[in-house]
Amino acid sequence: MSVKQRPPTAILTRGFDPTLSVGSARPAVFRSSTYVFSSPEAAERAFDIMAGRAAATPGENVDLVYSRFNHPNAEILEDQIVPLERGAAAAAAFNSGMAAIMTAILAFTRPGDHIVFTVPIYGGTEHFIHEFLQPFGISSTAVRAGCNGDLAAAIRNAPNLRVVLIETPANPTLVMTDIRQAVEASAAHNPRPLVMVDNTFLGPCFQHPLVCGADVVLYSATKYLGGFSDLLGGIALTRDPELIRKIKSWRGLFGNILQPDECWMLDSRLPTVTLRMNRASKNAQRIAERLAAHRNIRRIYYPTLFEDPEQVRIRLAQCDYPGAIISLDLKGGKPAAFEFLRNVKLARNAVSLGGVETLACHPKSTTHSAVSAEELEIAGVTDGLVRISIGVEDWRDLLADFEQALDSI
Ligand SMILES: *Cc1c(COP(=O)(O)O)cnc(C)c1O
Repeated sequence: MSVKQRPPTAILTRGFDPTLSVGSARPAVFRSSTYVFSSPEAAERAFDIMAGRAAATPGENVDLVYSRFNHPNAEILEDQIVPLERGAAAAAAFNSGMAAIMTAILAFTRPGDHIVFTVPIYGGTEHFIHEFLQPFGISSTAVRAGCNGDLAAAIRNAPNLRVVLIETPANPTLVMTDIRQAVEASAAHNPRPLVMVDNTFLGPCFQHPLVCGADVVLYSATKYLGGFSDLLGGIALTRDPELIRKIKSWRGLFGNILQPDECWMLDSRLPTVTLRMNRASKNAQRIAERLAAHRNIRRIYYPTLFEDPEQVRIRLAQCDYPGAIISLDLKGGKPAAFEFLRNVKLARNAVSLGGVETLACHPKSTTHSAVSAEELEIAGVTDGLVRISIGVEDWRDLLADFEQALDSI
């Protein structure tokens, strides 16, 4: 078919040939750790291509080698996820979001290099930057999320800058950073650093960093892509396939490719990502806008309730829909937050997000418990803050549950 397929169709047709799975309508799981070569010449060719000594010609059928480098279920998953991310040409699957982030950064930095990143950023990413990269001689500058002028200045002034890492919206108060402005500032830098975006909160459905000019999009597939809180995974996607080739060469060395069973599970979740995210976002918007005036809420954080004109501008320019994370700063501090968590019946008290089930947590005593007072202030994490990841339940049941939990504080 010559007509370009739209993403929901392409996800179900690309990358999988039933004749390679004895006619099975869904991909088989190939658990082999090693693959039989069709000839010694084919083996030599496969190693030349894997090591980057030769490039595969278009349409060439290269023999598989060994599952730490590549395996059929990773190939199927990677082919099928590309149409979900607007502007992407290639993808790499990892065994966690942290593995994707770490491998992408290490693929393009060396001792003496510098990275600029937005804060707050995922705790594991921050730990990796400070406790791992820094002792290895890769220095960094942190810029407050949403301070776009500061970000541009940090990019302009950094020597040996290789990577600009943006997480937007920021966790847990959903402050947004302008991806296009960071891309423009990076384009003026010589040599041009790679702009990487952790798109876990709004992607791949509602925010499209590659279309904004970013080079690498990163995911914790553990969240919305997986969608059922039952697997760990990570994904990197790029516009330039050469970047994915470099990232995969390090993945083969580190051994952090996603295993065949998890690739198969994640692959089966892709056709419903948009359905799940749309429902969760609509639920969250209805709930957030109705809870906003509750007398026990000091402040509510949700993109359609932004008041700062610059944040409203970025949201409208960069996000199709507001997403399914709501944070509530409750009057009465920690006792009120704990009581709210004890009172809710439908939402489960757990960290993580992006599942079909609604989860709620108290960041200050859990996800952000190791964070300094100054960083808590920057992140907007107060004693009374509760973060909620809205699922696909009926929003009226969730709203009623939150209202009774708030009323009885
Ligand atoms: C969860 C998360 C990560 C880490 O992903 P894992 O799959 O747990 O390794 C990274 N970034 C963001 C924004 C996350 O929410």
